[in-house]
Amino acid sequence: MIDHNQISKSISLENYGIADARVKYQLSSEKLHSETLRKGQGTEADSGALAVNTGEFTGRSPLDRFIVKDEITSDRVWWGKINIPFDPDKFDALYDKITSYLSGKDVYVRDCYACADPNYRTNIRVINEYPWSNLFVFNMFLRPEEEELEGFDPEWTVVNAPGFMADPEVDGTRQHNFAILNFTRKIAIVGGTGYTGEIKKGIFSALNFELPVFKKTLPMHCSANVGNDGETAIFFGLSGTGKTTLSADPDRRLIGDDEHGWTAENTVFNFEGGCYAKVIDLTEENEPDIYRAIKPGAILENVIMDENGKVDFSDTSITQNTRVSYPIYHIDNIQVPSIGHNPKNIFFLTADAFGVLPPISKLTPGQAAYHFISGYTAKVAGTEEGIDEPLPSFSACFGAPFMPLHPTKYAEMLSAKMKDAGVDVWLVNTGWTGGPYGTGKRMKLKYTRAMITAALEGKLSNVNYHVHPIFGLNIPQECPNVPSEVLNPRDTWADKEAYDRKAKQLAQSFKNNFEKFAEYANEEIMAGAPISE
Ligand code: ATP
Ligand code: MN
Repeated sequence: MIDHNQISKSISLENYGIADARVKYQLSSEKLHSETLRKGQGTEADSGALAVNTGEFTGRSPLDRFIVKDEITSDRVWWGKINIPFDPDKFDALYDKITSYLSGKDVYVRDCYACADPNYRTNIRVINEYPWSNLFVFNMFLRPEEEELEGFDPEWTVVNAPGFMADPEVDGTRQHNFAILNFTRKIAIVGGTGYTGEIKKGIFSALNFELPVFKKTLPMHCSANVGNDGETAIFFGLSGTGKTTLSADPDRRLIGDDEHGWTAENTVFNFEGGCYAKVIDLTEENEPDIYRAIKPGAILENVIMDENGKVDFSDTSITQNTRVSYPIYHIDNIQVPSIGHNPKNIFFLTADAFGVLPPISKLTPGQAAYHFISGYTAKVAGTEEGIDEPLPSFSACFGAPFMPLHPTKYAEMLSAKMKDAGVDVWLVNTGWTGGPYGTGKRMKLKYTRAMITAALEGKLSNVNYHVHPIFGLNIPQECPNVPSEVLNPRDTWADKEAYDRKAKQLAQSFKNNFEKFAEYANEEIMAGAPISE
């Protein structure tokens, strides 16, 4: 049978040090799906989507993410617990080991690119041990036309071998798994882990270094969509705060759900070509766009299914961080290509497990900078190894694990761009209301959506606001389609004194966290801090 999706070009991997591999170049989505089934590495869900288990790792492993310290990075990267230096010679040795491991095997190669704006396009070649990891790459990166494959010149190369285990003593890693970026060789190696998110976040981290340093572009850990009026909105937030969920809005065209660049030419472009959504407790009623995107071509990760292939989205027995990846065209209402103009509204999403922050408040420019540098959320179990209990978490720029530069570099760029574009900035708490985690409950998705819609439609411009006595945030007193009592968090708590105590505690955590940034902050930014304690 002729496979019409099959392309004629083939490539050799000898130049990469991968010898005698059976190279499967640019296989179609269908082919990778069936190859995964044939190898016994996945099963098919009743939706027609592929379901895989990623193995030992069901989330990223931030402690095993390294950057090679070399001429390009040594004076530019903000070294520390997030950006852990790796020796160039050790990298070369480990690269040789991982490529000889792949020699003689079936190897899946995909040419693709990041950055939807043609002026910023970054070609990538990904070399995978497993067919489903290569399908993930098909889903998540941008897909070149067949003509573009002739003479395809990859700028970055990713070598991904989940079955390869490092020997920490010899290889200089912390343990058997690793994700290492080398900016001189422009190679990322990912081994010992099958978690696909490491591939996407590896390239994200590379771009988060290169775009601001070399191309005057602000990289952002945010989702983005555009309204019928042509106006762009972006949504920053750490994992689980709602970037993917809230950007999939049937009334707005999706630009992207996770990684964008804001250029000097006032455009906002998606880095990726697909979405990677959490599916814990997913229902068609609450999240119809995501639910319907789960069809042939999509890959479900670490979900539990019955014998008929019906997924139980409430089953977290493998992990809370169950996921699905799909190409962006699985969503009905998308912006093509994935580019918008200067945003008109920016939302900072936070999932405050203490139930303290208001569900929506409007930020002054100083507060916007302060909250961006703080990057507060409460970490709920899931995307990272070793987090089982909710914890308060501050992650600068709402994405510190992926930001190689000092956070203030990104913050300065964002502040300048926000002023220039005249945006309204909103802090949206998608987390708890009526009390902290355990007592209160998560804000209804329906209400969060209504608050965002109201902000986008300008319906919060002519209402009364009051100032939060501890955080200094401006809280609207009414909002269409939202009961007024949920707008003020203190009103939702049975015990008001308990609320005040918690609010003061959280304000203190903000202040403690900000100490390390205070020397970089001007008066305006410091005025954005909580106003009392
Ligand atoms: P990541 O960076 O890991 O991709 P994300 O910011 O994209 O994370 P989502 O995938 O959107 O996060 O996850 C938000 C989760 O919270 C979803 O499972 C969603 O159903 C749930 N949720 C519950 N209530 C709300 C709410 N009020 N607003 C947003 N999300 C909510
Ligand atoms: Mn997401």
